[in-house]
Amino acid sequence: MPSFKEFGLSPAMASNLEQLGFEQPTEIQAKALPPCLAKKDVIAMAQTGSGKTAAFGIGLIEHLNPRLFAVQGLVLCPTRELADQVAKALRELARARDNVKILTLCGGVSIGPQIGSLSHGAHIVVGTPGRIQDHLRKGTLTLDRVNTVVLDEADRMLDMGFEEAMEDILGQTPDSRQTLMFSATWPETIRALSGRYQREPEDVRAEAKKGNPDIQELFYEIAPGTAQDAVMALLSERQPASCIVFCTMKQQCDELAEALRQRGFSALALHGDLEQRDRDSVLVRFGNQSCSVLVATDVAARGLDIKSLPLVINAEPARDSEVHTHRVGRTGRAGEQGLAVTFCTPSKGHKINRLESDRGQAAEWGDTEALMAVPLQPVKPAMATLCIAGGRKEKIRPGDVLGALTGEAGIPGKAVGKIDLFDFQCFVAVERSVADKALKRLESGRIKGRKIRVRYA
Ligand code: AMP
Repeated sequence: MPSFKEFGLSPAMASNLEQLGFEQPTEIQAKALPPCLAKKDVIAMAQTGSGKTAAFGIGLIEHLNPRLFAVQGLVLCPTRELADQVAKALRELARARDNVKILTLCGGVSIGPQIGSLSHGAHIVVGTPGRIQDHLRKGTLTLDRVNTVVLDEADRMLDMGFEEAMEDILGQTPDSRQTLMFSATWPETIRALSGRYQREPEDVRAEAKKGNPDIQELFYEIAPGTAQDAVMALLSERQPASCIVFCTMKQQCDELAEALRQRGFSALALHGDLEQRDRDSVLVRFGNQSCSVLVATDVAARGLDIKSLPLVINAEPARDSEVHTHRVGRTGRAGEQGLAVTFCTPSKGHKINRLESDRGQAAEWGDTEALMAVPLQPVKPAMATLCIAGGRKEKIRPGDVLGALTGEAGIPGKAVGKIDLFDFQCFVAVERSVADKALKRLESGRIKGRKIRVRYA
C-alpha cells in the first residue's frame, strides 16, 4: 500500500491531507506525485474521479512562495465548471499554508471584477484559455513568474478549439517552467502538443478500469424515432431522484427536455448555447434536487461537480467507447450501486459491438416491449427552488437566508436544502410541501434589513 509519507511532503500538507480524509494516494497520485514534486514535466492519462486534481495540486501548493505576490501557478481548464471545481480543490489543499490566493478567471462573467482581484495579487490562477488571453492582452495578468503550468483535460481543450490559445499562453510563460499535462485520452494531437512544450516528460498513467462492478449496464434496442418514449418509460419504471440523459446534439437536448416537461417530468436541458446565467440556474436546480432529469450534451456535462447519480441514460449510443465510459461513470461512484441504460436503434448497433470488443465483455440487452408497456408516471422532485434577487454583492450570506426562512415560527430547518449564493442572486431549495409558505415568508420578511424580491426559479 503506498502512503503519502513516502513523498516527503511538508508536515502542514501531510496533516491537511489527513484532515481531508485522504488516507492513501490514489493510483494516479502515487505515480504522478514524485515527478510533480521534483519539478519535472509530466504527461498523465487520468479520468475525472481518479484524484488527478490533488495529483498536480499538491506539488503546485508545496512549491509556492506565498511572500512573492506574483502568479506562480497557472491551471488551464476547458470549462468554467471544471475551473471552479479545480479552484475549490486547490483551496482545500492550500489550507495547509497561510495566505495563498487562488483566483479563477473564466469567460461568461464580466471581466471588471477579475481585473480588480488580479490587482490585489494572486499566487495561482485557474481559468479557461480565452479569458486568460483577454487578461494577457489587456496587461492585467502577467505570467513571467510562473513556475508551473497545468493543462487539465488537455484533450478536451483541443476538442474545443483552444489549441492556439494554449500555445499563445504557454509562449508567455518562462521557458524554465514545469509543464504538467492531464488528459483522459491520448490522441496524436496531444502527443504533438507535449512534444512542442514539454521537456523529457514523464509518462504516467493509471490503469484504465475495466468496468466498475457497482454499475449495472443495460442496453435496449429501439425503433427509430422512439427514443423519447423509451426515456420516459424508463424514468417511469425506475423513478430515480436524479438522472442525466445524454444526447449528442443540442437540438435533441432541447426537444427531449421539452417533451419530458410536457408529460409532467421535471427536466432541464444543458448545452453549450445556454447563457451563463441560465446554465448556473439549471445546475443549481439539478444539484439541489428540485429538477430530477438533466438532459445534456457531453461537452456541457464535462467537469460537472455532481455527486453520484442512481441512473444515467444514453438516449443514443455515445460517439465512442471512451465517451461511453465517461458518461456511465457518472453513476456507481463511491461504492454506490448505479444503473446505466443505453438506447440503440439498429443502425447504431455497430457502436455497441465496438464497445463489447473494447471491453471484452458482452452487452446485456433488456426487453424493449416490456419497457415500452410501463405506464407513464413522472418522477416528482422532492424540492423546489426559490430565487432571491440579491447575492454576495449585497453581502447576503447563506445564514441570512436560512434565518429568514426558519426564524419565528418559520418553516423547519430540515425543510431547507442547499443554498447557492452568486454575486447577484441566491437560490435556496426547500421541500416542495412548504415551498409556498417559504416564498410568502421571504416576500414579507427582510434580509439584512431590506425587503427582497423572490420568485420560483
Ligand atoms: P478528481 O479526480 O481530482 O476530481 O478527484 C475526485 C475526488 O476524490 C475528489 O472529491 C477528491 O477530494 C477525492 N480524492 C482525491 N484524492 C484522494 C485520496 N487520496 N483519498 C481520498 N479521496 C481523494
